[in-house]
Parts: sequence; structure tokens; C-alpha cells
Amino acid sequence: MENFNNYLSQLIEYRRDFHRHPEPGWCEYRTTYMIYKKLKELGYNLKYGKSITEEKSRFGVPDSKTLEYFEKLALESGIDKEFLEEIRGGYTGVIAELELGEGATVAFRFDIDCVPVQETSCTEHLPYTLGFSSTNDGYAHSCGHDGHMSIGLVFAEIIARNKEIFKGKIILIFQPAEEGVRGAKAIIDKGILPKIDYIFGGHLALSLEEKSSFSAGSTGFLASRKFDVILKGKASHAANSPENGINALLAATGIINGFNNIPRHSQGSTMVNVGVLKAGSSRNVIPENAEMQVEVRGENNELCNYMFEEAANIVENISKAYKCQYKILEVGSSLSENCSSELVDKVYDIVERSKIYNNIHKAKEIKGSEDYTYFMKHIKENGGQATYMLWGADIKDSFHGSGFDFSEESMINAVKSLYEITKNIL
Ligand SMILES: [Zn+2]
Repeated sequence: MENFNNYLSQLIEYRRDFHRHPEPGWCEYRTTYMIYKKLKELGYNLKYGKSITEEKSRFGVPDSKTLEYFEKLALESGIDKEFLEEIRGGYTGVIAELELGEGATVAFRFDIDCVPVQETSCTEHLPYTLGFSSTNDGYAHSCGHDGHMSIGLVFAEIIARNKEIFKGKIILIFQPAEEGVRGAKAIIDKGILPKIDYIFGGHLALSLEEKSSFSAGSTGFLASRKFDVILKGKASHAANSPENGINALLAATGIINGFNNIPRHSQGSTMVNVGVLKAGSSRNVIPENAEMQVEVRGENNELCNYMFEEAANIVENISKAYKCQYKILEVGSSLSENCSSELVDKVYDIVERSKIYNNIHKAKEIKGSEDYTYFMKHIKENGGQATYMLWGADIKDSFHGSGFDFSEESMINAVKSLYEITKNIL
């Protein structure tokens, strides 16, 4: 077996390249091309484009202007024109397979999108001082998915180079649009995944902000539903004929107050947040339009649905009271799901034996949402097992913060853990 540490410079090279070119969910054109090119070179069978995501489940695809903007950017960065044609319109992501004879089928999922946040140009921010900051204004890899993809690509290379020692089938899912929890369900609903015995997902750090730590599983996945509320009223002169108008902005504020007055639930924690409200056109016009971006979460799926139904009821009735027309557009969702305890135990033992990390946990709480939960549910329902690991990393700033950064050397331990797990199972 080759020395893993030789791969660190490769990991850093990938990571900095992805970091320089962040692309948001369903717009990961250049990212998809870079992954495709590398995996093809390594001899993987590849699926991509319209064949990997179900049309009616592709929630929250950006408007055509945004898609075209990132398509143009990807072309300018030198991606193959014919390849772009195949993924144009937001058909991003790659699924790679490697058949290595009789044995179990093992899948690994890596998320590939960035966050709509402006990266800092503070001199303490390493990506800035070393010159690999985001070149896309308003977008940055501030959740570490640049690291996840790099881990995935180097892992893919190590598997391909050592394939004679494995028996079974390897599936690598480079999933688009994790932010806003949109991509996973679209892949599951497409029905192209074979029966999978084991699936592994993971994240750098999250609740393990310390690079010598590892968690074999995770708990506390919050179920979430993301939706937009679109209100249509009627414009009118604010002084001359306000009684002829229908004020969509006021309806929106009524709805927002209503959301925050939904009773808490005795069965567990629930959350609601309106993160964006856009309304009105001018100082002297009764606002005709209002749009808001909302999310509700719950400790389990029932609590999340309770929040969604209460919120939908408020939208309907407040809109009626203000005589507004309304629409609720669902744009993403994730589940509350548990890792398979048998697989968590197995991973714990493997990683402990391999002495990669000093502090190993069975399961850490993440207190967030992940659409990987759709993979977990699907694979478990079909008789397989699933876990979501945390690869410890030192973190700068906070997740989704403008100065987010992670210790790059942490990627090598993540690759080692994946390799040890694969060696053990296949
Ligand atoms: Zn993330």
C-alpha cells in the first residue's frame, strides 16, 4: 500500500481549485466537469446530466438567468462545450461506479455546492492571503464541500489504483444542491441506484471542530421543509386611492408574525425562520408583490410537518384577510433519520484499530439538516445500512460565515478512514 501522505498535496490542489470556483446548487457546471474528467481518467463508469435526477423532484432550481450566468462562467473557465450541453439547465452532479467482482455494493456520497455568501478579504483569511479566494462574487465554499469533493476524488484514485484488493461494487455519488436540501431526493426519485448494502456520508468538522477527532455516526438530523411564499396584491396610489390597493407587504408582515406565533410542540423542538422578504416597488405605491423565503424544522418528521401545516394555514388565512392571492412553492426538504447502529459500531472499530484519530466518538449530535437523510432512509428501507461520519477539522469563523476555513491536512485523515472502511467491507 502506498503512502497516503503523498496525496496531501493533491488534496490541497483540488481543494484550492474548487475553492476558487464556487458554484451554488444546480449551477455546479465547472465543478461537475472537473469531477467527470478525473473519474473518467480513472476508469469509472459515469452517469450524469438528465439521467441522474428526477425532473419533478428537482426542487429549488434557480431561474434561467442565474443558470445561464454560471453556464457562461463555466465556459469562460475552459470547460468542454459539448459536455456543458449535456448538463445545461442545472443538470449537475456525477454518479460513478466501479465493478470489482462479486461482493457487497458500497456507496459514498460527497456534496459539491457552495453557499451564497461573500468571502472575506480579511488578511487573516488564508484563502485570501494565499490567493485562492472565491472568484465568484457573492458565492463561497464556506461549508467545506470543496474539501468533501477533494476527499472523494483522491479516495476514487486510491481505490482505482488498488482495485485488485477489493471485491464488490463501489458507487461514488457527487451530489449537487445539498445547501437548501434539494439534490438528494431528486437522485433517489430517479430510481437509478442499484441495491446498496452500505452507504457512507460525512462532513468535515460540524460539531467536531478539532482535527484529531472522528465520529463514526451522527445524531440530531433535523427534519426540514423549505418554501417560498409568493403574495400578489394590487398596486394603487398611496395617497390618492389607497383603498383601491391590496397591500401584499402588510399581508407578508401579518404572515411573518403568524409564523412566529405558532405554538411550540410538547413532543420536541421546532423552528421557523423567514430569511428573506422582498416587497413593494416605490414609496408612494401600495405594494403589489411580496415574496419570502421560509424554512421550518422539527426534531422529527412529524414535528416538521406540524410546523409546515400550521405555516400553510397561516399563509392561507392571512392572505384571505388581506384579499391577497398567494402561492406556496416547496423548494427543498430533508428528513430526521438515524444512522444504522450496527454500521456505526463497525466503522468505530475499524477507525479505532487503524489509529488515524486520537479521539473517536460513536455518534455526535449535528443539530442541522442534511438531505443525505434521503439516502439513509432509502438504503435502510431496502435492507442496507447507512451512516454519516464527522471528520474532525480545525475551523476558522463559523459554517456559512464569510471567513470560514478548515485545516486542509484534515482531508487526508478522512481519505484514510474511507480507505480503511472500504478495505474492511470489500
Ligand atoms: Zn455542508
